[in-house]
Amino acid sequence: MDQGEEGDEEEAWLRLRPVEPLPSQCCGSGCSPCVFDVYQRDLARWEAARASKDRSLLSRERHSCPSKLSPETFLAFLISAVDRLTKDTYLVRFALPGNSQLGLRPGQHLILRGTVDDLEIQRAYTPISPANAEGYFEVLIKCYQTGLMSRYVRSWKAGDTAFWRGPFGGFFYKPNQFHGSFARLWKPLPKYTL
Ligand SMILES: Cc1cc2nc3c(=O)[nH]c(=O)nc-3n(C[C@H](O)[C@H](O)[C@H](O)COP(=O)(O)OP(=O)(O)OC[C@H]3O[C@@H](n4cnc5c(N)ncnc54)[C@H](O)[C@@H]3O)c2cc1C
Repeated sequence: MDQGEEGDEEEAWLRLRPVEPLPSQCCGSGCSPCVFDVYQRDLARWEAARASKDRSLLSRERHSCPSKLSPETFLAFLISAVDRLTKDTYLVRFALPGNSQLGLRPGQHLILRGTVDDLEIQRAYTPISPANAEGYFEVLIKCYQTGLMSRYVRSWKAGDTAFWRGPFGGFFYKPNQFHGSFARLWKPLPKYTL
């Protein structure tokens, strides 16, 4: 390989190097792995791939319609419907292949990635569709006037794709989990007479 080709090769590798996230890209909801963990993992993978000159070792986002979520990698989901419910609230439906289910437990959330003014941002959202909904999942998003992700969400239309990773959250909702506990704690107040 001559010097020119080596330079081109080096440039091509540098273009593939993962970009360190800005603090603004952290959604602040304590996800594990967080955006910085994912960056460190991608950087290690890039360094290994570059050392062995093997691009196939680099992670790639899947652009097909996935049925399973990944907590580490953003996957593209097709927006099948956008309903504006109020002036600032949108119900957005995402397609899952066939009759597959998202498999999220009540109380868990996902991380959405967006780009606004060339700035990558990530925010948390909690699907509101039933856990066993087949072929789709839905999120209800309130958009704020000055919100960055809000701006991105307002631009959505059916047929667009959006990138999600997850699930996150270990505080699960279980019906009647605390049934009886509160009743035992409750004591009638003493009666006062004037
Ligand atoms: C675990 C978790 C789950 C969430 N689930 C949902 C969900 O299902 N649906 C949903 O709509 N949001 C949800 N959120 C909030 C969401 O992650 C974003 O914070 C929200 O969409 C605003 O993002 P933004 O980028 O548009 O605003 P930002 O750019 O982050 O904020 C800019 C400005 O927008 C305004 N703003 C932002 N957030 C709020 C707020 N909460 N109250 C009042 N003003 C605000 C403020 O003026 C703020 O200065 C969830 C958050 C967490 C942590």
